[in-house]
Amino acid sequence: MPCPAIFTNLAKLTHNSKLVVESCQAAGLSVMAVTKAFCADPKTAQAIQAGGVTWFGDSRIQNIARLKEANLGLPLCLMRLPMLSEVDEVVRLADMSQVSEVITAKALSEAALKAGVRHKVTLMVDLGDLREGVWPRDVVAVAKEMAALPGIELHGIGVNLACYGGVIPTHEKLSELVNLAQAIREQAGVALPLVSGGNSANLHLLPNGMPKGITQLRVGEGILLGRETIAREPIPGANLDVFTLHTEIIELKEKPSVPIGKIGQDTFGNTPVFKDKGIRKRAIVAIGRQDLNVDCIDPLDAGAEIIGASSDHMIVDITDASPSLGIGSILKFNLQYAALMTGLMSPYVSKEYI
Ligand SMILES: *Cc1c(COP(=O)(O)O)cnc(C)c1O
Repeated sequence: MPCPAIFTNLAKLTHNSKLVVESCQAAGLSVMAVTKAFCADPKTAQAIQAGGVTWFGDSRIQNIARLKEANLGLPLCLMRLPMLSEVDEVVRLADMSQVSEVITAKALSEAALKAGVRHKVTLMVDLGDLREGVWPRDVVAVAKEMAALPGIELHGIGVNLACYGGVIPTHEKLSELVNLAQAIREQAGVALPLVSGGNSANLHLLPNGMPKGITQLRVGEGILLGRETIAREPIPGANLDVFTLHTEIIELKEKPSVPIGKIGQDTFGNTPVFKDKGIRKRAIVAIGRQDLNVDCIDPLDAGAEIIGASSDHMIVDITDASPSLGIGSILKFNLQYAALMTGLMSPYVSKEYI
């Protein structure tokens, strides 16, 4: 079995997807599954699709192309504001994109007319997180301009919170979005069926905290890791172990816990500090910072503790772990989002399915 590897349990993933879809449906919402953390791998996307999501969304056009190629049957949304240099690809590959600039909407409209396709757009609104989006007082005017463009359909508005600014989605914030949607319908004369209320950080508002009029959430981490993302609380009933990292022990020795010699900078320019715990049983596993973000993984073996990593080696204190561990043994880890994302795109980490 190749190592290191990330194992994806597809049945557990489908369970999480179904759970999130059902709790959203109970509140009148549909779910766009966000595929960027796993580079839109079609098998993984399919397992999520089996849970009842109605759209796929991704930030990168390469991933949208991968989903298009896989022909899974769901519409595709480009979630990062399109670059002007990619509008031709965007209208060819994606059914919808999220926009905040009239210049970009015009370019999409022209590209769509040229390609003979109809392209939907979601107008992004900034409700204070200070990443993408039009300022609320400008939303209706911008919507009118976009609605008038012949090649695109202004299909919805959306907001993204809890990303750059960490602003928590609340009933009040989302009500503002619902009100803006209503103002656009009345003043720009469009149906605007989609009101996309945010990401996994909104899941804590279910079942009762979501205002009427929000029609969709865009969910990545909540489905993949089974947690909402405000406090990273588990979603009741969700699997927290869809993904598992396997690493192999390549050295196992008893050594002191404090290095011997004068301490300077490590590989990454930090000056390390050490606590003297005496002689410890230290396993080196064949994984490091070049493989994935090792700061965001947690040992699954009871008693194992990560004590450091360089580019290619990670050191785990297994003094208090199972005595049966030896050279060639597998140490397993749970992955937080940053480790999952970097691991699943790493050419050095094998991808396996259960
Ligand atoms: C990544 C992303 C999401 C999904 O975020 P999660 O926290 O993984 O649910 C939703 N919307 C946009 C615009 C994104 O870029």
